[in-house]
Amino acid sequence: MIQSPIPWPNGARCACAITFDMDADSLIHIARPEDSFDRVYPISMGRYGPTVAMPRILETYRRLGLKQSFFIPGWCLDTYPDVVDAILKGGHEIGHHGWIHEDPITTKGDEQEVAFERAMDAHKRHCGAAPVGYRAPVYNVTQQVIDLLIKHNFRYDSSLMADDIPYEMQTSNGSLYEMPVHWGTDDWPPFAHYDEIGYMMPVRGPSAGLAGFWEEFEAQYEAGGFFMLIVHPFLTGRLARWRLVEQWLEKTLDTRDVWFAPLREIADHLDGLKADGFTPRIEQLPYYAGPQS
Ligand SMILES: [Zn+2]
Repeated sequence: MIQSPIPWPNGARCACAITFDMDADSLIHIARPEDSFDRVYPISMGRYGPTVAMPRILETYRRLGLKQSFFIPGWCLDTYPDVVDAILKGGHEIGHHGWIHEDPITTKGDEQEVAFERAMDAHKRHCGAAPVGYRAPVYNVTQQVIDLLIKHNFRYDSSLMADDIPYEMQTSNGSLYEMPVHWGTDDWPPFAHYDEIGYMMPVRGPSAGLAGFWEEFEAQYEAGGFFMLIVHPFLTGRLARWRLVEQWLEKTLDTRDVWFAPLREIADHLDGLKADGFTPRIEQLPYYAGPQS
């Protein structure tokens, strides 16, 4: 069972979102700023995302009539504007994902605020509006980030793990929804191998690496919950992996009663339910005022 199950539109049994974090080569530039510009191999691995995988992913979504959410660092918006245009043309959402994938745990205070605002400016320039959703690089949300999201009227975060389904986070300054993530539905553990940024992982075969995701879906479907993938174009957008995701999408759309939506539409839906008297599960933040011992 799940607490406070959310009634989905048109009686759908489960809400689904395949969310992509289009980090491209920002990962190597933030990790090795002194010489990243001349590390051609990791640059090429990251560039595969916007240049090769994204057209493939967007074509699948166009063919299947899906609108989804993409989280993109501001630096990537500036560096790959053509793919940003293609995403927007497809009717998809682009959320805030830091400036150049800086980790909020190590980028605090003024430095965090400057990076956050710089990314806001890039969103406004490329997307014509401020983003309403945020996913922290490496999921590392801090209270400062939550306060910045509330200050800038964000409607949701998608970096935290306190429930299986969307919930609400309340602070003394305001509230926002959480569209919860988990490593079990993230493609980094099965597919990333990136020595330069500290990941030496045993890369799984396409079907083995994706199998856990589909088990997560079955449990959420049975419970009437929320199934979200957190995946990367340069990993899951590769030919053999995306072929299997595409087949799963086709089968699921054909045979299951699911609602695929960008996360901002799930936030809209929650707003509507709340106006009708529904209360999502609530987490009060900050969790702690200071060090615990
Ligand atoms: Zn990322």
